[in-house]
Amino acid sequence: MRKEILIIGNWKCNPLKLAQAQNLYRSIVSGLRKEAKENRTKQHSFKTKNKEQVRIVICPPFVYINDLVALNKKLGANLEFGAQNCFWEESGAYTGEISPKMVKSLGCRYVIVGHSERRLYFNETNEIINKKLKISLRVGLTPILCIGESKKDEETGKTEEILKIQLQEGLKGVENGKLVKNLIIAYEPVWAIGTGDFCDPEKASKALFFIRQRTNAKVLYGGSVNSKIAGEYLKVGFDGLLIGGASLKAQEFIKIIKNV
Ligand code: PEP
Repeated sequence: MRKEILIIGNWKCNPLKLAQAQNLYRSIVSGLRKEAKENRTKQHSFKTKNKEQVRIVICPPFVYINDLVALNKKLGANLEFGAQNCFWEESGAYTGEISPKMVKSLGCRYVIVGHSERRLYFNETNEIINKKLKISLRVGLTPILCIGESKKDEETGKTEEILKIQLQEGLKGVENGKLVKNLIIAYEPVWAIGTGDFCDPEKASKALFFIRQRTNAKVLYGGSVNSKIAGEYLKVGFDGLLIGGASLKAQEFIKIIKNV
């Protein structure tokens, strides 16, 4: 039985200025408060009809996390935070890298690892992703491991083969028991990310079933989710959503939350 639903906003490399990030954050908080008021629930503490708690997580660029955590406090809001990436070592001579411990100390609870954009543009392999995932768990962060097939893999019927490899190698050395409770899988077909071409929920549920046979972790769907389709992924059994583009539009993001 699902006890909670996670709605995670991945802002990627946006917006360009801190003031814009603060404005976006404020708009999300005030929009959620308005919804809560209309629904007579506690301040943006949402529950679904089945009494599942809806947790809302924002993953801004690193440079905004500190300010947004402070703003969250100032506004008395209860959104949670995650980073979009981290390094595989705790500290040392690694110019330009961000330690998972730094991420944790800023007030983040989550970290995205293995996003397809990192695999594609930064050559992150399953081995690198596995190192990032393990250190994140070690320092007490909840990693969100992104997996998903490319268009070519999908067209040639290789989806399950790809998911199997990404899971096997990404989760190497992680027990499917204790630790897996602190980890989340996001099924994100690469062809669906940022294209507007979301994966049909019924089809996505086949990948969900495949992933569930291999891990007890929570599983999210991500890839061009909008407010019209959002609820359907929850109906087929996903534990939540990873949202990119739509999380940068406060009204649409709030509608998504409302519709789950
Ligand atoms: C993502 O970046 O993880 C994502 C799902 O993006 P979008 O919603 O824009 O497809």
